[in-house]
Amino acid sequence: MKRIIICFSFLLLVFVLKAQTHEHEICGYQHEVEKLLKKQPNFLTWQNALFEQAMLEYNDMQGAKRKIIPDTQYYQIPVVFHVLYNNSNENINESYIQSQLNELNLAFRKLTADTLRIRAIFKPIAADVRIQFVLATKDPNGNPTNGITRTQTFKTTFATSIYGEYNDDMKWTNNGGKDAWNPARYLNIWTCNMRYPNQVSMTLGFATPPTGAPNWWGNVTKDSTDVESGVVLHYSIVGRNNPLAIANNVEAKTGIHEVGHYLGLRHIWGDGQGNNGCNVDDGIFDTPNAKDKNYSCSKSNPPNTCIDATNDLPDQTENYMDYALDGCAAMFTKQQAFLMRYVLNNFRTGLPYREITFDTTYDQTKIEMFPNPATEKKDVKLQISTLEKATFHVLVIDMNGKQVLSFDVMSNEVASIDISGFARSVYYVIISDADKKIVDRKPLVIFQ
Ligand SMILES: [Zn+2]
Repeated sequence: MKRIIICFSFLLLVFVLKAQTHEHEICGYQHEVEKLLKKQPNFLTWQNALFEQAMLEYNDMQGAKRKIIPDTQYYQIPVVFHVLYNNSNENINESYIQSQLNELNLAFRKLTADTLRIRAIFKPIAADVRIQFVLATKDPNGNPTNGITRTQTFKTTFATSIYGEYNDDMKWTNNGGKDAWNPARYLNIWTCNMRYPNQVSMTLGFATPPTGAPNWWGNVTKDSTDVESGVVLHYSIVGRNNPLAIANNVEAKTGIHEVGHYLGLRHIWGDGQGNNGCNVDDGIFDTPNAKDKNYSCSKSNPPNTCIDATNDLPDQTENYMDYALDGCAAMFTKQQAFLMRYVLNNFRTGLPYREITFDTTYDQTKIEMFPNPATEKKDVKLQISTLEKATFHVLVIDMNGKQVLSFDVMSNEVASIDISGFARSVYYVIISDADKKIVDRKPLVIFQ
């Protein structure tokens, strides 16, 4: 009996030490997969099939020398943030949500200044994913909304145990959370307290992988908990430079990482661990093989945890799907971009993304906008060069589609865009002709 008590005490000590010394759990994706496997034992088989199919299509497109991601297609995903709070800190300010959305949009358009971190070997494969996120303007009943719900909860935390599984109470009104808005039409992001009970550490975020493509039904039960689809973020890491943020989590990168999972991506090390790590891949060929997660991105001694026989590359610690997030992450690869767009086209097809196509009449038209990104509050110049003189209408909108400026400009003349009232964000400059046909839509990035 005594021995049992000693063993138990020892275990308890190890457990407490681990809880005290270990970092936060950056991402709870694996727990989500484990939960999913209980309901859909064939999930991983189908997920692997998804990656194989997507990569085959990617190679076909490359073989045919077609553009991997046609320039004319952008996808827009409406987002709703469900803010759950037990105290006023958790009732996060709208500015953090706007900031998180900014950072998501900068990341998915490869426009963030953090791209300077990308090493030369990976620069050619860093992708503009051409997916953007906007706060929903209509709720599921068609009523106007700012895309944010706020719910006071009796729950002091939504985490149930340390590093273990947790439930999805935040997604259910009856359990102290907030029911999802139709997940087929919105990306639901819940923000709440994910601190482990009576601990200082927490899970920073997690996301549900896409399930239930139409061709899965042969062997896989339809996921009845589809309403749990979405992303969950610990409240204090939402947005850039959130003053409540825990150390080293000020760049809003966890939110980007989790949306990557939501759109189908796996961790770049493939979630294999230990000696087997180099034999488990993430199903994406342009992310170098890695043995395990990296928590940092040393410039002087960059990790290379798997030596490949051909084309050996170091671990891609710049990737949003590694664990070296804030301070390191700055890119998705071209194949990751393809996979996420493939998921939108094949799985999350109900999201009312909008494909924007441009009039090809103006293919020869040259549109210049400078400086862009704008790093100072000086006017941005815009010039539309055409063979024949024509009048164009210019509309500047913010990320939520709200008009901030509109004017007409003659071709071959230089127009000035006064950005003194613009915030640090991505804006869109939409140029249309006299027949109101869209000629082009260019992002204008304001860094100041
Ligand atoms: Zn993750």
